[in-house]
Amino acid sequence: MRDGHGRRIDYMRISLTDRCNLRCIYCMPAEGIVQVPHDRILRLSEIERLVRIAAQMGVERIRLTGGEPLVRRGVVDLVAAIASTPGIKDVSLTTNGILLPRYAADLKQAGLRRVNISLDTLDAAQYRQVTRGGDITSALAGIESSLEAGFSPVKVNAVAVRSLDQDFWAFARLSVERPLHVRFIEYMPVGDSSGVCGCGWGPEEVVSCEEIRDRINRRALAEGVEGLLPAGGGPEGAGPARYYEFPGAQGTVGFISPLSRHFCGECNRIRVTSMGKIRPCLFSDEEIDVREALRCGSDDAVREVLARAMRMKPGEHGNPNSAHATSTNMNQIGG
Ligand code: SAM
Ligand code: SF4
Repeated sequence: MRDGHGRRIDYMRISLTDRCNLRCIYCMPAEGIVQVPHDRILRLSEIERLVRIAAQMGVERIRLTGGEPLVRRGVVDLVAAIASTPGIKDVSLTTNGILLPRYAADLKQAGLRRVNISLDTLDAAQYRQVTRGGDITSALAGIESSLEAGFSPVKVNAVAVRSLDQDFWAFARLSVERPLHVRFIEYMPVGDSSGVCGCGWGPEEVVSCEEIRDRINRRALAEGVEGLLPAGGGPEGAGPARYYEFPGAQGTVGFISPLSRHFCGECNRIRVTSMGKIRPCLFSDEEIDVREALRCGSDDAVREVLARAMRMKPGEHGNPNSAHATSTNMNQIGG
């Protein structure tokens, strides 16, 4: 599948649900989300069909996300179905990790190859605050169970936010003793029309990846250890991150600047929301419905929607500093 700008599109991110067992302050409104009637959400059989047709058109990698994908009933069977779809080479998951102790082994068995776990702070009280009540011990247990289940790579994603004043050094050092790939993601002030997300964090809360790396390297100097060195290609599914490593470390440290346009040229992905809208670009509210075609149309009708989505994909997203090119919260798009 090639888009209108000649880019090869082989990666599809599918949101299984808008719902979540946490309420991160930058992602979800405090009161939770308006419950969408079940019949407006893509059925698992419809997702399987979409994947089969997309794979025939050249999609090779699927990432399941949300909301929290592990709160969707039937997720293990869905992974098994996707993993056995001809043409699909890789199935991965983005999760807050809370339910991984329960599901990790079954997911591995079903064919899931790798997981990204979101963890923004290593401090229990701050985790409770950011997630509005989450228990960090469950998230940490999720990381452990992923390593035990044999997922590789296991990535830990932390969104950097200035006022949280996170301990970037402690995060980065998680990569030394264990095969963990820690990634810092610049906060995206998306989600409502005033230009700041629902939590009131605006662009002033963004900490650039350069600053994070600088702070880690200054601390390394103070501790008398070697700092971060460029790490070649990075772990599998490296995508838009830039990777570094401490000499001798088992894992890596990656940096993702979602608002910078440098990766638009290499963009290889489309997103599908839980209600069956294809979003050609994360930073645009333009979307195209595929649910109707999946529910009532032929395979050709689904193919036609995918082909139209390819034509809609912009060459690059809007002004990165205006930041809220999308007014949708991340729980709806899947990050
Ligand atoms: N619930 C799963 C999780 O938390 O990993 C999957 C969905 S969540 C929307 C996917 C990712 O988006 C998470 O890593 C989360 O931290 C990130 N995210 C949500 N809102 C964001 C924002 N405003 N800026 C940057 N990242 C954001
Ligand atoms: Fe839930 Fe993930 Fe959003 Fe946090 S970031 S509220 S865990 S969907």
